Amino acid sequence: MPGYTHLFIPGPTNIPEQVRMAMNVSMQDMRAPDFPELTLPIFEKLKTVFRNKSGRVFLYPSSGTGAWEAAIQNTLSPGDKVLMSRFGQFSHLWVDMAQRLGLVVDVIDCDWGEGVPVEKYAEKLSKDVSHEYAAVFATHNETATGVTSDIKAIRAALNAANHPALLMVDGVSSIGSIEFDQDAWGVDCAVSGSQKGFMLPAGLGILSVSAYALEARKRAGFGRTFFSFDDMIATNDSGYFPYTPATQLLRGLSVSCDMLLEEGLEAVWDRHNRLATGVRKAVGAWGLRLCAKEPKWHSDTVSAIVVPETFDARDVIARAYRGYNTSLGTGLSKVMGKVFRIGHLGWLNEGMVATALSVAEMAMIDCGIQIEPGTGVGAAIRHFSATAAPATAKV
Ligand code: PLP
Repeated sequence: MPGYTHLFIPGPTNIPEQVRMAMNVSMQDMRAPDFPELTLPIFEKLKTVFRNKSGRVFLYPSSGTGAWEAAIQNTLSPGDKVLMSRFGQFSHLWVDMAQRLGLVVDVIDCDWGEGVPVEKYAEKLSKDVSHEYAAVFATHNETATGVTSDIKAIRAALNAANHPALLMVDGVSSIGSIEFDQDAWGVDCAVSGSQKGFMLPAGLGILSVSAYALEARKRAGFGRTFFSFDDMIATNDSGYFPYTPATQLLRGLSVSCDMLLEEGLEAVWDRHNRLATGVRKAVGAWGLRLCAKEPKWHSDTVSAIVVPETFDARDVIARAYRGYNTSLGTGLSKVMGKVFRIGHLGWLNEGMVATALSVAEMAMIDCGIQIEPGTGVGAAIRHFSATAAPATAKV
């Protein structure tokens, strides 16, 4: 079909031209004397993006799942008791990984559409006077349901209980897009990947760790080679890697970090909030609802939109793809067929979101869902116009 194929899934996200061009280079020697000129500044830029002053960042040629595993293997031991919650496909998968690796997981199950049950965490932590929990896990942004949780409040619960457990956070679909402050929130392992807020292809697991988590590696009992912090530290300090790095992705990452830092992290977070609010206005105007049960959990990076019960969201997604060259996100696992998702993160602006909304609207109408044409898009663009920055240049 002529025209662009629009990508509005919650990762991989759209890649900025500057990033694409930066990766379009001939293959390079990862042991060249000037290779550290590329890599050492990347570690510093990433520490700024994560807001991690005293720890360090590891870059694995893996996806986010690899960084999940690296966090566990380098800081914990088989048989350790940990606290986790499950309320969507990605929080489910991290629980599954922890169990399969041999952690003893105390899982709190919540309805899909809810977030981390902070009050329950606080209660369990305050009762755990012998400090049996070695770590507390939280999925900051549950991509399957469009739910963002309050990480700051989990840190407050740990502090109130004077609990030494590590705080492990999945920020795969939040970091680089919505507010995240590793130092201020006392996050020990912050997991991310290249293909969402960092606006790159998949292929990098990005793990930012605190000084406390680095210390924990000395007593961690899991065997590890590929993900070993020690092997990474031994080579990273001079700008190299213990095995072949994903050189092109590193080139792109350097530029995508520059873009985030030049725009300013707060401005990036504001932009995501503004675009997400437009999407939420559209959902309201369509007479539909989000999977996220309460506004406090609304995600600024992805909206999971519930279709009326007699319809199958997969038909809407297929119609958008085949009829209008547009990828919307499918519902995963429990919510398959019930929701479609609009990913609104990364390299994105108002016009792109308006395109996503107009295609979603057309696809739903084509599938027979009762929607007045233009209502959702109209509500979103009214919001965008009302909140637009004043024009800085005369046309
Ligand atoms: N965690 C969250 C919140 C995710 O959204 C994803 C992927 O979408 C993952 C973890 C897994 O990351 P990856 O697919 O890069 O391994």
